[in-house]
Amino acid sequence: MKIGVLSTSPKIYSTARLVEAGKARGHEMHVINHKRCYMSIASMNPTVHYRGITLDGFDAVIPRIGASVTFYGTAVLRQFEMMGVFPVNESVAISRSRDKLRSMQLLARRGIGLPVTGFAREPDDIKDLIEMVGGAPLVVKLLQGTQGMGVVLTETKKAAESVIQAFYGLEANILVQEFIKEAGGADIRCFVIGGKVVGAMKRQAAEGEFRSNLHRGGTASLVKLTPQERATAVSAARIMGLNVAGVDLLRSNHGPVVMEVNSSPGLKGIEAATKKDMAGLIIEFIEQNAKFGKTGTKGKG
Ligand code: ADP
Repeated sequence: MKIGVLSTSPKIYSTARLVEAGKARGHEMHVINHKRCYMSIASMNPTVHYRGITLDGFDAVIPRIGASVTFYGTAVLRQFEMMGVFPVNESVAISRSRDKLRSMQLLARRGIGLPVTGFAREPDDIKDLIEMVGGAPLVVKLLQGTQGMGVVLTETKKAAESVIQAFYGLEANILVQEFIKEAGGADIRCFVIGGKVVGAMKRQAAEGEFRSNLHRGGTASLVKLTPQERATAVSAARIMGLNVAGVDLLRSNHGPVVMEVNSSPGLKGIEAATKKDMAGLIIEFIEQNAKFGKTGTKGKG
């Protein structure tokens, strides 16, 4: 098969692993920088151009679109979908999962466990907002933050109020969330491919830190999931419409709660923790599922 990896650099670990795994299975692999693609939106003949050539003959594309280029990257992916190319994750599913509020609303509607969460932009009654999610301690999150930046634990109502006010002054969208203390600074990344959890790791925050992000000194280890955790991860990926997803859970005293569903989960940490060839499993998923024109979004925009 001819498979494209939409990625800004062939040097990124996950991109390199996907190319390696595809080649090992006899496929023709191309890294396509979606930021450099340009498109012709002609009726009946959509095309994608890259470095002066027209990209064609692709059987599948694996989107690895960073959060900062979601808008343009999903437009390029949509163009491939309109050309009939099979996307590992569809453009609409990626856009959906990148919108934290939309994702949480969709997951809540389907009964998925979530931390008690409030959204706010310009709250008149900050005290009521704090009460609404159960009071302090609570976590205040900047909606556009990544890698744990903009995630603040406020121990008291007073601290919560002033942090919310500060974000409000900056006109930022925020999320106010129940602090899952019993998670003990750990979260669980479930790697889902094609409706199955193929691996999971526990990320433990560094001493004195509640955020378990590996970029913040967290450490990863293999973890065994409960059937309920497995089912939650699979459902969350399905609700988002993602074939490949990283579902982040916290172990709360009211069962597993979903924090985030990631449409481009990194391969490095999970492959190291599980010693599994996740890249190979993604290629295998393509071999089993890629068909010309098999995209739910084709024709729907
Ligand atoms: P980001 O997307 O920036 O990584 P997250 O929302 O994933 O931000 O939060 C970063 C980390 O903080 C999580 O991995 C988790 O360890 C911790 N965390 C986030 N929300 C909560 C919460 N409500 N209760 C307990 N810990 C939390």
